[in-house]
Amino acid sequence: MYPLGHISMAYFMVKLVQKFSKGKFNIYFMFIFSLLPDIDFIISVVRHRGITHSLFALLFVSIILLRFNYKESFFYVVTYFSHIFADLITANGVLLYAPLSTRFIILRALYIPSKYLFWVEVTLFLMFLIALLFTGDYRKVWMDSEEFL
Ligand SMILES: [Zn+2]
Repeated sequence: MYPLGHISMAYFMVKLVQKFSKGKFNIYFMFIFSLLPDIDFIISVVRHRGITHSLFALLFVSIILLRFNYKESFFYVVTYFSHIFADLITANGVLLYAPLSTRFIILRALYIPSKYLFWVEVTLFLMFLIALLFTGDYRKVWMDSEEFL
């Protein structure tokens, strides 16, 4: 998936979790953690959709994050997971079990063929924008970040 798809997917997963936990999240951190696994574009020594998209990386990020404010950090763990999940349902899959396995995994039950991916992402992003408007979360994007920390 592309960045706008990842951000949108992360938002919907975080909102789903928020229904049960009632906690607050910082939307900028959500943006960062929803794109963090693709840091492998910058770090050229690791393969794209490799170790940064694995359960190992998710565990590593979770351990680091959950040492801070547990309730809020959980949202960013979900956000990181949403990225891995989104790439799991696309054509190339991810190295989910890296470094233990070099096999790319695709979640076939929810697989989105490449020819539809662009439109799925556009639809998801439009739904994200509409949800921002109706939930009032758009204020989190434009207001002082201090208010949401
Ligand atoms: Zn990715």
